[in-house]
Amino acid sequence: MTALLDLYDVRRFYGAGDTEVRALDGVSLSIEAGEFVAIVGQSGSGKSTLMNILGCLDRPTGGAYKVRGVNVAGLDADALAALRRDTFGFVFQRYNLLATATALENVEIPAIYAGLPLEARAARAGELLAKLGLGDRTSHRPGELSGGQQQRVSIARALMNDAEVILADEPTGALDSGSSAELLTLLEEMHAGGRTIILITHDHDVAARAHRTIEIKDGRIVSDSGVRKADIGREPYKHHGHAPTALTQVSESVKMALRSLRANLFRTALTLLGVIIGVAAVVAMLAIGEGSSKQVVASIETMGSNLLFVRPGAPGTRMRGSAIATLTIEDANAIAELDNIIATVPEREGRETLRVGSLDYSTRVSGVSADWPKAQKWEMGKGAFFSADDQRRYATTVVLGETVASNLFPNGENPVGDYVFIGGAPFEVAGVLSARGATAWGQDMDDVALVPITTGMMRLFGQQYLSSITIAVEDTRRINETEEEARELLLARHGTEDFQLRNTASLLESVQETQKAFSLLLGSVAAISLLVGGIGVMNIMLGSGTERTREIGVRMATGARRSDIMVQFNTEALVVGGLGGVLGVLIGLGVSLGLGGTGMSIAITPEPAILAFSCALATGLVFGYLPARKAARMDPVAALASE
Ligand code: ADP
Ligand code: MG
Repeated sequence: MTALLDLYDVRRFYGAGDTEVRALDGVSLSIEAGEFVAIVGQSGSGKSTLMNILGCLDRPTGGAYKVRGVNVAGLDADALAALRRDTFGFVFQRYNLLATATALENVEIPAIYAGLPLEARAARAGELLAKLGLGDRTSHRPGELSGGQQQRVSIARALMNDAEVILADEPTGALDSGSSAELLTLLEEMHAGGRTIILITHDHDVAARAHRTIEIKDGRIVSDSGVRKADIGREPYKHHGHAPTALTQVSESVKMALRSLRANLFRTALTLLGVIIGVAAVVAMLAIGEGSSKQVVASIETMGSNLLFVRPGAPGTRMRGSAIATLTIEDANAIAELDNIIATVPEREGRETLRVGSLDYSTRVSGVSADWPKAQKWEMGKGAFFSADDQRRYATTVVLGETVASNLFPNGENPVGDYVFIGGAPFEVAGVLSARGATAWGQDMDDVALVPITTGMMRLFGQQYLSSITIAVEDTRRINETEEEARELLLARHGTEDFQLRNTASLLESVQETQKAFSLLLGSVAAISLLVGGIGVMNIMLGSGTERTREIGVRMATGARRSDIMVQFNTEALVVGGLGGVLGVLIGLGVSLGLGGTGMSIAITPEPAILAFSCALATGLVFGYLPARKAARMDPVAALASE
């Protein structure tokens, strides 16, 4: 008959050369099913090392260890995890309970890795706790329990998967004498129930309760009282778990992730903030960008598709048109002679203060030609536009925009025929334009006064150069042809291309290009904040300290495979990303709607929200991967021992 546990010349050395420590130095030992063994020895004699090897948390450096005749040296990490899960239940000196989980949840952990369904799991954990006298403490966290109670919770956890072997490493070490006595009684009951108990202690009184005592010193067995006949031949356990399905694995991970995020609320909030800001920024800024671009396009379209614009300055120069002296009124007159043209409007503008009686009002005064209403398709509200004759005569006449008229004539009088002082000279009001409202950029189009260009140049602007020429073409199908003719004409007149000629289509194009650049900028802002968020995610996982490392150790000791740990950590990162994504999208939408309420033009489309949310998730995935891998590769003994 093969022994349940069989060690042959097992060695476990730490370090090498001068610093080599022989924690176990040739241990041969057989333990039969149903034994109650105490392993005694002084501190540092190698007891814990022996227990870690017995429990498959650690592998021997040399020699052979067989469980039910199977050499563990031939088992991979997952097979070892399964062996721990089904065969061994661990009880530690410092209990090693998860501080953030309730007593019930702590007891449930091994069953998660054995794939026991949720209800069955909770029921069994509750039963075990009740049997151990903790029926009214199931929802308490370890911090709310006494040492003895915590140790009973850890015993319930060891029993959860119906382990055949209970490995207890100095379980009474941190307990008072009363709790110690209770615990030993529990161990005796478990032994009576058919389990194999291996109890490690340095206390000979505690060891006396066992049926076999093995003494160990400097990594070697120095005495062994031998197997008690009565213990041999108990029925071996049949229970065996199976790995959890992917679905339970994920749902468990989400639960655990939420729990651990809740446990560190402040840290979680800070990390979430990074993700939220990034996502909200993308959603809100794209809504604003999209909204303004739509409005710009709409207002360009209302200008009509038959316009050509000439501005002074060579293509690509960034100087403001008014500072460049290349376009003249003669240029405009020459263009007017071309074919397919309805109107050519030269324009020069400046800021002036208008005065009526004691009322002052400063506005944009534009010198234009009489053709201006035709080119702009702008109706009169009152009176009439000045005529070509007025222009020729240098008439001191003005047409007011609605905003200017209502500021200078606040009592609703009809300004037509009245006089407005501009630059000290009286201008007769010929008419008032119909109201048009604001441009996409928020500029009030009605805040303008128009004078004949001739008068303006002579009396107001002090310069003979134009800030622009607007050309309205007759047949829009020939607009490109006309544009070319105008270009050649100006080239011939100036000898060099010191002007820019554009049509509405190319204006639209440049607006869209600006829009693209804007989106790119937003994208990089978002990418940077998501990066910050991602680093936060990584920080949560990597710098999580002892508590977290011990948790990994406990999970591994109770049967978690590397993939379980990996899934858990990745899920946690994904939960942060997803949560940040959802909150970010909501906040972004809220901000957009709020801005929309203030009159800003916004356009909410689903794409930015979807894009930003996916980016947040991807951030979680990418930045969670490294910490997850690090956690999954951790050595269970080292993880459990972390201080
Ligand atoms: P016990 O549990 O009997 O007090 P241990 O098994 O913990 O003793 O340790 C046995 C010896 O091995 C001690 O000298 C200890 O310092 C050494 N040891 C244990 N773990 C390590 C390790 N990870 N690295 C180096 N030395 C270790
Ligand atoms: Mg020890």
